Amino acid sequence: MSRYESRRNKLRTMLRKFGADGLLVTNFTNVTYLTGFTGDDSYLLVTGSDDVLVSDGRYTTQIEEECPDLEVDIRPLGVTTLAAVARLCRRAKISTLAVESGSMTVGQFQQLSEAVAPSTLVGSDLLVERLRMVKDRQEIAAIRLAADQARRALEVVRASLTPQQTEKQIAADIEHVLRRFGARGCSFPSIVAAGPRSALPHAVPTDATVGGADFVLIDWGACEGLYMSDLTRVLVTGKISPKLRKIYGVVLKAQMAAIRAIRPGVRCEQVDDVARRIIAKAGHGKHFGHGLGHGIGLDIHERPRLTRANDTVLQPGMVVTVEPGIYLPGWGGVRIEDDVLVTRDGYELLSDVGKELDECVVG
Ligand code: ZN
Ligand code: ZN
Repeated sequence: MSRYESRRNKLRTMLRKFGADGLLVTNFTNVTYLTGFTGDDSYLLVTGSDDVLVSDGRYTTQIEEECPDLEVDIRPLGVTTLAAVARLCRRAKISTLAVESGSMTVGQFQQLSEAVAPSTLVGSDLLVERLRMVKDRQEIAAIRLAADQARRALEVVRASLTPQQTEKQIAADIEHVLRRFGARGCSFPSIVAAGPRSALPHAVPTDATVGGADFVLIDWGACEGLYMSDLTRVLVTGKISPKLRKIYGVVLKAQMAAIRAIRPGVRCEQVDDVARRIIAKAGHGKHFGHGLGHGIGLDIHERPRLTRANDTVLQPGMVVTVEPGIYLPGWGGVRIEDDVLVTRDGYELLSDVGKELDECVVG
C-alpha cells in the first residue's frame, strides 16, 4: 500500500467517526498530501470505499506520472468542477458530504449544496490537517534537508555580506543561492530587516543598507521537494551594544529553555509558557507579541501552533518552530528561530546554525 493510500485510509476512519459518508478535499495542499499530485484546481472526493481525483485536461499527464493508481475524473470542457463532484456523489450514493470549511467560499458552498441536493453538506474542520501534524520518515527527511539547505544558503550569503548591500539584495541572494543548491526556492519571502526595522516581526525588505545599522535580522527558509524549513538569525554587522547583548541573551535563554521543554505528552501552551515566562521576567512580556512557534511541513505555517491556550499534546513526529522574540519600537528586534522534531523521548534540533551572539558577528 502506498503512503498516500494509507493516509486516505486513516482519513476514512476519521470520516466515519465524524459521521459523514464522503469528504470533498478542496484544499490543494491537502490534496497533495493525500495523493502526491502537485498541481492545483483539482479536488479529491473521499468516500467510504474509494477516492476520485476531479481534475481537468491540463493535468492528465501530470496525474499519470504522479499518482498512476488513483481513480481520476477529468471533467469535460464546459462542466464545472462542482458539477462533476455532484455527479460523482450521486454515483457513490452519498447522503452526507463533508467539506473543508477552511478552504471553501460561501459561494462554492451554496452552489455545491444545490448541486448535490437532496444530499446534505456539512462543514468539517482540520480533518486532513490533523493527519498532517505527525510526519512520517520521508517527510522528516525532507524537512531536515530543507533546514540544511537553509544553513548552507546563509553561510554563502553571510560570507559575501558587505555594508553596502541592501535588505532587498540580501533577500534576492538567499533565493538565488537556494535555487542553485537545487531547492525549489525560499519557503516564504525572506525577511531581511536592518537595525530598527527588525522591530517589525514581519518586515518587508527595503533599499536600506545593512551598513547603516549594527545588526540585521534574517528570517528565511528553504523549500525542498515540497517541504519547508523556517529559521531566524540576527547577524551582527556593527558593534555589540550592551543593550543588544542583554536583549539577545534573554531571547536565546527563552528559546533554549522552550526547546528543552519539548517532548511527547507536553501541551503546546506549556512550551509557549516556558519562553514567555523568561521574557516576562526580564521585563519584556509586552514586547513578545506573537506565539512561540508553529508546525512546518507542506505549508510554512501549519498545526500544531505553539501558542497560549492551545492544549494540543505534542506527539513524536511533529515538527515545530521555536521562535521567541523581543521587539522594541525605534531600536529593533531580536528573534531566534529553529526547527525542532518531537522524538519518542524528547526533541531533536533539525536546524543547525550557530546562535551564540559571538558566532553571529560578521567579518
Ligand atoms: Zn521564520
Ligand atoms: Zn516561523
